[in-house]
Amino acid sequence: MVDETRVRVLNKNDAGIGPIVYWMQRDQRVEDNWALLYAQEQALEQEVPLYAVFSLVSNFAWASWRQYEFMLRGLEEAAQRLAELNISFHILQGDPTETVPKFVKRVGAGELVTDFNPLRFVREWKDAVSDSVSVRMTEVDAHNIIPCWVASDKEEIAAYTFRPKVHRKLREYLTDFPEVVPHPYVAEAASEPDFEELLKTVLANRTVGPVDWLAPGSLAAKDRVRHFILNKLSAYGIDHNDPTQEGQSNLSPYLHFGQLSAQWLARQVSQAYDTNKESREAFLEELLVRRELADNFCYYNQAYDQVVGAHAWAQKTIAEHAGDVREYVYDKEIFESGKTHDELWNAMQMQFVKEGKLHGWCRMYWAKKILEWTPDVQTAIDTALYLNDKYSLDGNDPNGFTGVMWSICGVHDRAWNQRPIFGRIRYMNYASAKRKFEVNAYIDKYSRAAVLFNE
Ligand SMILES: Cc1cc2nc3c(=O)[nH]c(=O)nc-3n(C[C@H](O)[C@H](O)[C@H](O)COP(=O)(O)OP(=O)(O)OC[C@H]3O[C@@H](n4cnc5c(N)ncnc54)[C@H](O)[C@@H]3O)c2cc1C
Repeated sequence: MVDETRVRVLNKNDAGIGPIVYWMQRDQRVEDNWALLYAQEQALEQEVPLYAVFSLVSNFAWASWRQYEFMLRGLEEAAQRLAELNISFHILQGDPTETVPKFVKRVGAGELVTDFNPLRFVREWKDAVSDSVSVRMTEVDAHNIIPCWVASDKEEIAAYTFRPKVHRKLREYLTDFPEVVPHPYVAEAASEPDFEELLKTVLANRTVGPVDWLAPGSLAAKDRVRHFILNKLSAYGIDHNDPTQEGQSNLSPYLHFGQLSAQWLARQVSQAYDTNKESREAFLEELLVRRELADNFCYYNQAYDQVVGAHAWAQKTIAEHAGDVREYVYDKEIFESGKTHDELWNAMQMQFVKEGKLHGWCRMYWAKKILEWTPDVQTAIDTALYLNDKYSLDGNDPNGFTGVMWSICGVHDRAWNQRPIFGRIRYMNYASAKRKFEVNAYIDKYSRAAVLFNE
């Protein structure tokens, strides 16, 4: 049974008699997905067919070809798995506020189920959909281990206020998953989605192409988890903060597209008893506390990408330093092509461009320098998000909005000593990078990518 606190009703309509439709949005997987499990539970109870739909928006914000390709390959795998389970899967094309209600009406659905996403644009979609369908619409948090609204009922100040809440509820929620069963009630057959044709319809920027070091899909995600636990987890505590080591798991693209369940991952890691305990705990701190804190921030603070979304102390210090002289000021194009005066920053930008992911420690330095070299704080936020969300496979995620706001506006951080431009926002410089890792080795590796990019 899906825990009822994971589920909430989004409109006032009653459930009707008819098939259940699962609108897959953020959690693009079949196994370990509470939203799909809940939808199937309802369908089995009422002895009705089960549909899954995904509504493909072909020109989403500044999403790149690289991200669409990763997502659609993952959905192709999900489609095959759903077919094996007799669950009819439909890719709808266009604005979900039109496609989803139309589908619900066409199949005479009794209930619409969807997964949870705290970001504004998805909430707007869901508000519009829940208003226009005539049946009950329910939302299931399939992304967080502890449902976002259960973990806390307010915006948390920092990790130290959130951590005890997570740990108190963890035992209750960090459970194993039941299996999705072959669905016994047959739905109208879906014509098999043609993913090559779907890819052709995508209008995204094609200059940002796919990466070859990370295979999309849930099977590849689980393989990577197994490889990480076997070969990397024990050293994670030491290696994950060094950008010249392959110390991080590189699982964020899978988590972002929901190809991998954080709950399944957390169980694998917490049960890897033959690995180093401190490293296990360090990894679980990132996965459980930091990641779910990002959802908390975006859910309770809808100004998650604006200066006004920062704490009062941060807004005050930002205002006080608005007029500080900037020694360097760059526009978006200079940042994007990695042509600033700082070769370390340029190398970081090139890691984004080339690999579709930037090391976690580098992301902080990278964003803080954007603050230092732009005319005002909102421009810094917008520039960092534009670059992060265009190049990074895990972009457009609550983690990204929160990471940018942490770096530039002190969200979840404390006030530090006064400095020009930064005020009391934490400062980072080249010397802090040199203390952390072999800066020259990192620059050497990624400046080669800069040559290719600028040719
Ligand atoms: C400016 C900036 C921008 C960022 N943009 C993104 C983004 O677009 N998408 C994204 O997923 N993360 C983002 N992060 C957070 C973090 O850097 C990445 O989650 C992490 O580097 C992903 O790599 P990994 O999976 O190898 O991480 P690992 O170190 O292996 O960690 C495992 C998982 O824990 C979670 N995690 C780790 N660090 C953080 C963190 N600081 N905050 C929240 N969750 C964390 C992620 O889900 C990650 O996949 C950003 C951070 C900053 C400072």
